[in-house]
Amino acid sequence: MVIDTVLSNYSLELLLPVQNPFINKWQSQGKKVFGYFCKVPKELLHAAGILPIRLLGTFQELKETHQHFPPVFCHYARSVLELGLNKELSSLDGIIGVNMCDTIVHIVNALETSVALPHYHFLNRPHDAGVRSARIFFRKEVIKLKNRLETITGTPITPDQIKRSVELYNQIREMVKKIEVLRGKFPQPKLSGSTAAQIALIGQVIPPEENLKMLKQIPPLLAKQDASGDQERVRIHLSGSVLQDLSLYQLIEETGGTVVSDDLCSGSRFFGEQIELTDDPLFCLSDYYLQNLSCPVMHTKGEDEKRLQDILSKVEQHHAEAVIFSLQKFCDPHQFDLPYLLNRLREAGIPVMTVEVDRSANSQQLRTRLQAFFETIRGGSL
Ligand code: SF4
Repeated sequence: MVIDTVLSNYSLELLLPVQNPFINKWQSQGKKVFGYFCKVPKELLHAAGILPIRLLGTFQELKETHQHFPPVFCHYARSVLELGLNKELSSLDGIIGVNMCDTIVHIVNALETSVALPHYHFLNRPHDAGVRSARIFFRKEVIKLKNRLETITGTPITPDQIKRSVELYNQIREMVKKIEVLRGKFPQPKLSGSTAAQIALIGQVIPPEENLKMLKQIPPLLAKQDASGDQERVRIHLSGSVLQDLSLYQLIEETGGTVVSDDLCSGSRFFGEQIELTDDPLFCLSDYYLQNLSCPVMHTKGEDEKRLQDILSKVEQHHAEAVIFSLQKFCDPHQFDLPYLLNRLREAGIPVMTVEVDRSANSQQLRTRLQAFFETIRGGSL
């Protein structure tokens, strides 16, 4: 496929271990690199001249983390700590934590006490965006983060710098949307689900300037490219938490399905919608990161319905025939949402299946379940 020529410059094996050639280049210019967990306003770090790299963990076997936590925390979060304990985060100048879920709070605490890095900062993000006090509180938290970054770099962050960074990330969001439309093209997708996932993951661990350059090459190539795979495959919408391991996509493809859209934490939900800019870009950022990201860690009234509508609209837009939920084992926030989403999707006549992912999704048992699921859909009985 033509697209492979673009992606050959961005191999995941090279990029996911936190220290990658793009980070080296950034640091060789005397600039800092910070790791962060999702829901941190990365635009603010970028505006400060700091490269924000999403901590995506590893799907390797965990050894060191067992001394700190029992395996009843999700693999993803523990794997970030494992990287730290193995000194694989030592190239970072700092980490920005956020209280997205209790697991991450514990993991950030453990990182701070066990992994020596020059800077740690914790962003408190309210879980109910519907109350006015939450909005005021989070604005103060984002101002605190800005002040901390200014102290670290010794340079003030101007509104213009924030605006430019927001505009850059907005361009990325726009390109991601364009690729999403082409990706699951009906009746034959232009991109396999695993390639689309690879593109999304790459974008989280390289500089945004480089990501935009990469993304801009993709739509013209896809327009020329033949469709990928056959029309008989069951079109799947993949929903859920972080999925760094591509084996689930490959398993779905090997058993007769194809992922045409997603709302994964590590996929399209990470990129989100455009940030609207006003005269006060800092407040635009704080409001966006509190209110606009559909996420199961939020307890805002109507949040579960909002997620359901997001999934339904993607299912419709991309002609998905079924929804597979991929959840990290022991992920409470996603598990809490799940019964509501499953019931409502079943009521809408959409076949659903749930997959629990620990280190990897690859297993013979799952292969058999997927085969049966796709055969049932093609056989017409749900
Ligand atoms: S997968 Fe779930 S438990 Fe793990 S960090 Fe994400 S929200 Fe928290």
